[in-house]
Amino acid sequence: MSASEKDQAQTLPETAPVVVIGGGIIGVSTLYHLAKKGVEKAVLVERKAMASGTTWHAAGIVGQLRESSSQTELSKYTARLFTELELETGQATGYKQNGTLHVALSDIRWEQLRRNHDHAGRMEIESRLLSVSEVAELYPYIERSDLLGGFFVPSNGQVNPLDVTQAMAKGGRARGAQIFENTKAIRILTRNGRVSGVETDKGVIATDRVLLAGGMWTSRFAAQHGVTVPLHATEHFYIVTETIDGLPRTIPGLVVAEERLY
Ligand SMILES: Cc1cc2nc3c(=O)[nH]c(=O)nc-3n(C[C@H](O)[C@H](O)[C@H](O)COP(=O)(O)OP(=O)(O)OC[C@H]3O[C@@H](n4cnc5c(N)ncnc54)[C@H](O)[C@@H]3O)c2cc1C
Repeated sequence: MSASEKDQAQTLPETAPVVVIGGGIIGVSTLYHLAKKGVEKAVLVERKAMASGTTWHAAGIVGQLRESSSQTELSKYTARLFTELELETGQATGYKQNGTLHVALSDIRWEQLRRNHDHAGRMEIESRLLSVSEVAELYPYIERSDLLGGFFVPSNGQVNPLDVTQAMAKGGRARGAQIFENTKAIRILTRNGRVSGVETDKGVIATDRVLLAGGMWTSRFAAQHGVTVPLHATEHFYIVTETIDGLPRTIPGLVVAEERLY
């Protein structure tokens, strides 16, 4: 019996220290980290299957440089975690560190990349500014006529988001966390203005802590409880190609901000 089937065979607990609503990467990661920090028997409910929301769509690009230092520290931690998760859980995450290459087609973007390089240095993330010929060496397929230069972060990479979710679920379960798929949260129950439980389509779990990690469905769910969550989904397109002959698996991720493309 798989871990998921075991959970389905289990009945929902009557109480839990924390209930996480939503089994995407955010919900499962939170459950994993709660378990790692010693919160016993936290529960996650997912209305369908884990990672079936937005998570499975993700390209899985792992970037570390963010707008603020604290976000960058968090992203650095995430990149480290991806190297450790497989060793810890035995579940591969597909993590490969091919690096990311950002290119500039305009002066303003080139200045931004130079600032990013500076920020990377302060945050102790190795990075390089590249001339056009160095960009072309790293990425031979690129059109060079409008290129000003590039910014390369070798330790960035890519994961398989489905496998990362499975690995974190495995790590969480091994520490006593419980995951219930095909279990929809209907509403959060309150008593005297405080959270008292979660009503699901499989029963009620009493709890005084709920994490709403429903991704793009969060704001609608929260609105039903009179809470505004300023989160809005935007459209995002991706192309899946046939195998491209000669395209090496070691090629870095390429970001062209002016073309809104990666
Ligand atoms: C095409 C594409 C490419 C992307 N590429 C990248 C990338 O390269 N790198 C990167 O970092 N990010 C990328 N992202 C963004 C990334 O996918 C999301 O930020 C991330 O998956 C969000 O995770 P989540 O857990 O918040 O949401 P979700 O994965 O959507 O999970 C929410 C879950 O909540 C469940 N749920 C909702 N309501 C309820 C309820 N009432 N009861 C129980 N369960 C409920 C849903 O079924 C769903 O499984 C990409 C996104 C897209 C669409």
